[in-house]
Amino acid sequence: MSEPGVRAVLATRNAHKAQEIEALLRSAEPVDRLGLRLLPLDHPDLRATPDVVESGTTFAANALLKARAAAATTGLPALADDSGLAVDVLGGAPGIFSARWCGRHGDDRANLELLLAQLADVPDDERGAAFVCAAALVLPGGAEEVRTGRLDGSLAREALGEGGFGYDPVFRPVGGRRTFGQMSAVEKGAISHRARAFGALAQELPDLLR
Ligand code: IMP
Repeated sequence: MSEPGVRAVLATRNAHKAQEIEALLRSAEPVDRLGLRLLPLDHPDLRATPDVVESGTTFAANALLKARAAAATTGLPALADDSGLAVDVLGGAPGIFSARWCGRHGDDRANLELLLAQLADVPDDERGAAFVCAAALVLPGGAEEVRTGRLDGSLAREALGEGGFGYDPVFRPVGGRRTFGQMSAVEKGAISHRARAFGALAQELPDLLR
């Protein structure tokens, strides 16, 4: 017998993102009411889902590309995230290129080292940056929704802490002393760009998925 509740695909192969999004949605009251069951892309039925070329030029466009592809291949509602770090003195870069800033996709360590080297001479009071996340939902029938979340902060001079992923060890949320790398998953999840974007989308999910 199949389990009750609404099924949706979480269209990311990034395990860190998947964990964060699942925790965020699980703690959202409207989603709890819905009995939402999120299927990861590495679910045996979904493993053949092709990777998407991120040809969009905004976070929202890329999040929609990922969600559209997953909804089309699975016939299920699909949720996706596109996110990154926007650095003030770099005019908003790496932005949508955050995952491939060093030239290779998904090499978090090399991306972080390159960014720190580029900013080596930038003084402390000019190291402003923000994490940005677009959360997209696409339904098999074609309906689409995107919500964006942003968290301002500044960049440390070296990687601090072992928590999180990507640029977390250098990002200090505004008003705080610790980087995301020095925070617990729960602390990050209470304030992050991803929490803001998926938190906003979560409020709409019961209506959208009904
Ligand atoms: P995407 O998978 O194309 O959306 O790329 C996201 C990239 O942005 C990741 O590989 C990280 O480099 C960076 N990023 C996005 N969100 C976070 C975060 O919460 N912490 C640290 N890095 C992040």
